Amino acid sequence: IETRLPKVGTTIFSVMSQLALEHKAVNLGQGFPDFEPPEALREAVTRAMQEGHNQYAPGIGVAKLREQIARKTERSYGRRVSADTEITVTSGATEAIFAAIAATVRSGDEVIVFDPAYDCYEPAINLQDARAVHIPLTLPDFSVDWQRVRDAITPKTRMIIVNTPHNPSGAIFGADDLDALADVVRDTGIVVLSDEVYEHIVYDGALHQSVLRYPELAARSFVVSSFGKTWHCTGWKVGYCVAPKPLSAEFRKVHQYLTFCTFSPAQFAFAEVLERMPDHAEELPAFYQAKRDRFRTLLADSRLQLTDVPGGYFQLVDYSEISDSDDINFSEWLVREGGVAGIPLTPFYETPPTARLLRLCFAKNDATMQAGAERLCAL
Ligand code: PMP
Ligand code: GLN
Repeated sequence: IETRLPKVGTTIFSVMSQLALEHKAVNLGQGFPDFEPPEALREAVTRAMQEGHNQYAPGIGVAKLREQIARKTERSYGRRVSADTEITVTSGATEAIFAAIAATVRSGDEVIVFDPAYDCYEPAINLQDARAVHIPLTLPDFSVDWQRVRDAITPKTRMIIVNTPHNPSGAIFGADDLDALADVVRDTGIVVLSDEVYEHIVYDGALHQSVLRYPELAARSFVVSSFGKTWHCTGWKVGYCVAPKPLSAEFRKVHQYLTFCTFSPAQFAFAEVLERMPDHAEELPAFYQAKRDRFRTLLADSRLQLTDVPGGYFQLVDYSEISDSDDINFSEWLVREGGVAGIPLTPFYETPPTARLLRLCFAKNDATMQAGAERLCAL
C-alpha cells in the first residue's frame, strides 16, 4: 500500500515516555507537569459533567469560553478580537496547527520552519504535498537569522511557522524579531502560523511578544495556544486559534471535519476559571521561574552545562563533559543506565548540529526534580 508519511516513525515523546516507564527512570522527557491542575478547575469540569454538558459543543467552541478568550486576548495583548468570528476552540494546539496548515497550504507550496522545530509541523505540511524549508536557529541562543529568512523566500513560500517561547530551546522572540517578521511578509501573500502555547511562561520580567501585539502581523496570522500548558492539564487537549475573520472561516472548514468540536465539559470549566481566576496566567511566570531556578541550582554540581532559559519549561543541557555520543544514543543510555529520561534534539532537525544537547523538563514537583538531579549529578 502506498502511504503518505513513509518516513515518519513514532514521535520521540512517546518513545522516551515508554522507555522511562520500562526502566523506571525519572521522566524529564515528554513535556507535562507531574502536579495537578488547580482544584477549582477540576471541580468545574466535574460539575460541568454532572450538570449535563455532555453532548456536542458548538463546533467553533462554547460561546462563554470564546468570550473569555477574547477578554484575555485584549487584557494580555491589547488586541480586540471577535469571539464569534475570530476565535475557534480546538482539541489541543496540535489540532489547531494541523487545521491552520491544511486550510491554507497547497500542493507545491513551501513553508518555512525554524530548526529545532516542534515535531508536528512537518508531517502536517507534507500531508498537503507541500515542503518544509528548514532554517536552523543560531546557537548558542537559538536566535533567528532574519537575513537567512529573507534569502529563503520564493514565490512558493506560503507560510512561516514561528514558536515563542520556543520548544525545545526556551528562546523567546524580542520586539526586533517581530519587526523583522513583519518586514519579511509585508506585501506578500505569506501567512504566519504563530505557535504560542507557552505564552504565559516567560521569565525575568520579559514580555511575551505575541503576534497579536502587532496589528500588521495579526492581520495575516493564525495564533495558536493551549490550555494544557497554562492550566497544567496537558491530557485534556484543549486549545484554540485566533485569526482574522477570513482566515478563521477557512480554518473552521477544516476543523469542522477534523474533530467538529472539542470536549464540552472542559470548555465550560475553562470558561468558569478564566472568569474566576483572571490572575492565574499572570502568576505562572513566578511559579515556573521558581522551578527553573530550583532545577538549575540542583544541577549546579553536575557535569552538565546549562543554557539560558528565557521561557517555556525546558532546560537544555550540554553533556559533552560526560559523553561523546550523539544525542539519540546518549538519551537512550541515560534512560537505561542513568535512570533519567530526557529528549534528544536531533528529531527536531533536518540537519542536526554537532552540539551535545539534551532537553529536560522542569514542570515537575520538587521530589521529582530532586530525584532526577541526584541521578544527573552522579554521571
Ligand atoms: N506546540 C508546542 C511548541 C508544544 O510544545 C506543544 C505541546 N506541548 C504543542 C504545540 C501541542 O499542544 P497541545 O498539547 O495543546 O496539542
Ligand atoms: N509538547 C510536549 C513536549 O514537547 C509533548 C507533546 C506530545 O507528546 N505530543 O514534550
